[in-house]
Amino acid sequence: MEELKNTAPILHVSHLKKSFDDVAVLKDISFDLNAGEVLSIIGPSGSGKSTLLRCLTQLETFEAGEVCIDGKDMVIPGVKTKNGVKYAPAKTLREIRLSTGLVFQNFNLFPHLTVLQNLTLAPIRVLEKNREEARDLARELLKRMGLENKEKAYPCELSGGQQQRVSIARALAMNPKILFFDEPTSALDPELTGEVLKIIKGLTELQMTMVIVTHEMAFARDVADKVLFMDGGVIVEQGTPEYVFGKSENDRLNAFLSRFA
Ligand code: ADP
Ligand code: MG
Repeated sequence: MEELKNTAPILHVSHLKKSFDDVAVLKDISFDLNAGEVLSIIGPSGSGKSTLLRCLTQLETFEAGEVCIDGKDMVIPGVKTKNGVKYAPAKTLREIRLSTGLVFQNFNLFPHLTVLQNLTLAPIRVLEKNREEARDLARELLKRMGLENKEKAYPCELSGGQQQRVSIARALAMNPKILFFDEPTSALDPELTGEVLKIIKGLTELQMTMVIVTHEMAFARDVADKVLFMDGGVIVEQGTPEYVFGKSENDRLNAFLSRFA
């Protein structure tokens, strides 16, 4: 008998548009990502990369388009309101939000909580896990991050690289279906960048679906199944790493890449 395969993408973005005070920042963004795949997003500063991640993780609203994450529609397809799209009911939005995680450039750890508390707070409060279960998972994740002896430390006692590894562990503790990274190494000294990139690369072995905005071009190429190049609020090119970093003849893309050569 033929096996039925679920081939629907885990992330589907279609004609997404977003503006701030009448300034269009995302102009018509469409792409798909399959479960277990890694997408790198590259592009100059101001091109809309962070805004895109913020729309997909519900930190910003958008006015047009469709977003479907893990089979759930963020906005009701085909329904328009005077503000643009009609968002799904709160319960659906919460489910979608819980299936995504975001790792920020500046770590955003809770400064007054220990590493362990940073990792267990949301699993206990939001997922209603019991304390022991949350702590066991947190310890397992800290071990994976090479931070098993840091659980009692406060964020200010850690290096930037260690803080970023804690924030990755904190995101993983919520068991997201898709993990988004917004320039995860941009705030780090060059010697600390490698340790964080190694951890992210390691997550590909767990078949973690990831969307990574980065200026580390060698990493973006190496880690990705698919690459988007954004400029001026549009996707100028998308394709395999081999295509985007080698075979594309797009002038804007090649001008951008030449800055890193
Ligand atoms: P990137 O992450 O690619 O550098 P951003 O998404 O941060 O780009 O920004 C895209 C554009 O949107 C920029 O012109 C930026 O100034 C503008 N922008 C971002 N956030 C806001 C905001 N909250 N209010 C007004 N304009 C914003
Ligand atoms: Mg940004």
